[in-house]
Amino acid sequence: MSVSVNGGCLCGALRYTSTPYNEKAANYCHCRLCQKANGAPVVVFTWVPKENFKFAKGKPQRYATSDKGERLFCGTCGTQVGFETKGPVVGVTVPTLDNPEDFAPQQHIFVSSKQPWFKDNDGLPHLKEGPDSESI
Ligand SMILES: [Zn+2]
Ligand SMILES: [Zn+2]
Repeated sequence: MSVSVNGGCLCGALRYTSTPYNEKAANYCHCRLCQKANGAPVVVFTWVPKENFKFAKGKPQRYATSDKGERLFCGTCGTQVGFETKGPVVGVTVPTLDNPEDFAPQQHIFVSSKQPWFKDNDGLPHLKEGPDSESI
């Protein structure tokens, strides 16, 4: 079954699309940069091939939060819709998808920065850092 990766920001100025991705992999990211960029204790990302990801409406503002890549967000409403890495993938923030329910997170990453009051005893794997040990 193919899964669509379509979504947009809160105000509707930005709409993005990616070709269907067969892997619904998603993760919770607890890193401080995600916390600050989203004003939230944790952010859920799914990853799509950069070559397939495009904006169908509007152009995002960009902000490099590290040398790993840039946050993509709406200049009007501020919603972060993605994180464009310098590698071959774009992280899409799952709550901005049209069908976020299809992308249940499978692990927690950067739990070394997790807020102590955030309870996540959900039985999922917890990585102290990210897959490559560096905060994005
Ligand atoms: Zn917007
Ligand atoms: Zn993060």
